[in-house]
Amino acid sequence: MTALLEAEGIAKHYPVRQGLIRAKTIGTVRAVDGVSFSVRKGETLALVGESGCGKSTTARLVLRLIEPSAGHVRFEGVDITTLDRAALRAFRRRAQIVFQDPYASLNPRLTVAETLREPLEVHGIGDGRSRKARVEELLSLVGLAPYHAARYGHEFSGGQRQRIGIARALAAGPDLVVCDEPVSALDVSIQAQVVNLLRDLQRRLGLAYLFIAHDLAVVKHVADRVAVMYLGRIVEVAEKNELFRNPRHPYTRALLAAIPHPDPTRRGRIVPLGGDLPSPLNPPSGCRFRTRCPFAQEICAKEDPPLEDGVACHFRDELPPAGLDFSGGLAPNAARRLALFAEAGRRQGTL
Ligand code: ADP
Ligand code: MG
Repeated sequence: MTALLEAEGIAKHYPVRQGLIRAKTIGTVRAVDGVSFSVRKGETLALVGESGCGKSTTARLVLRLIEPSAGHVRFEGVDITTLDRAALRAFRRRAQIVFQDPYASLNPRLTVAETLREPLEVHGIGDGRSRKARVEELLSLVGLAPYHAARYGHEFSGGQRQRIGIARALAAGPDLVVCDEPVSALDVSIQAQVVNLLRDLQRRLGLAYLFIAHDLAVVKHVADRVAVMYLGRIVEVAEKNELFRNPRHPYTRALLAAIPHPDPTRRGRIVPLGGDLPSPLNPPSGCRFRTRCPFAQEICAKEDPPLEDGVACHFRDELPPAGLDFSGGLAPNAARRLALFAEAGRRQGTL
């Protein structure tokens, strides 16, 4: 089956200039640096990683809100990086975005009805009467009432504003919605409601989501598959349950370790992650994660590990099992595993 959305080696590099007159380029921010993934019809691919790792830039690239420095994005097999204006408009009808900040993303001068009518007008969908009916339908879809149509954005709570943002994204009847941290700006008590709404809408409308989050706990509720991003790259991609059960990349393990586990005996058994995210202006040589990786060896500074078999790590088949649980017995390359494990432990001061 062909994917609904396919990103292949996409990159976004921003030149850094110094001086106002005759500015010189002194470096390049590698916000996204060679990312490939696909989203199937009706599924949710979650994209997770720390703040600054390139998630929003990826979101903008796949919707061609910004132009890529390299790579291709295909929607139903058609390369959207070369579409003309008319074709791009047709694509936008099918692929929409919900932004993180429901305060900033709504125009304060428009009523809800005007906000929701806008995409219908832009895409020439329906006439005055049918648009009015569609606005009411959209409000009901996202759990708002018909009388909300006449109100302005500032009259709503954060959760309600995000419902309006979702209704606007759905107005033209998309197949794909990119959700860029849609609940991160909301109160924790509201987050679950909006996540549940998104899941419900997915079931009813057959939507595919590229769901961006920095919080794995949220991802656990929404994702079918998960792609983990680090410093402009994807380091691991797996089916959700598989990823939570058996995280393979050291970075994925560290992210999972940051979620409090309900079973205290299982807490803290995954090697925690230290240090800060390095700058995408000057990423480490070789594997970008090596400066924070407890398992890093010489080769990691020299060679950039490709994403193979879902994991970008030179030692993906040799690391100790996730959770440092040896109860299942030792694998044939146990000596090497133990050496890695011991060294990691020494470095972390846990052995
Ligand atoms: P995330 O959404 O994961 O927090 P972003 O995609 O917003 O990350 O940003 C990734 C990196 O690219 C960050 O270091 C950010 O500062 C940088 N960046 C984003 N947009 C620009 C831009 N227009 N110019 C220069 N650097 C940018
Ligand atoms: Mg972001």
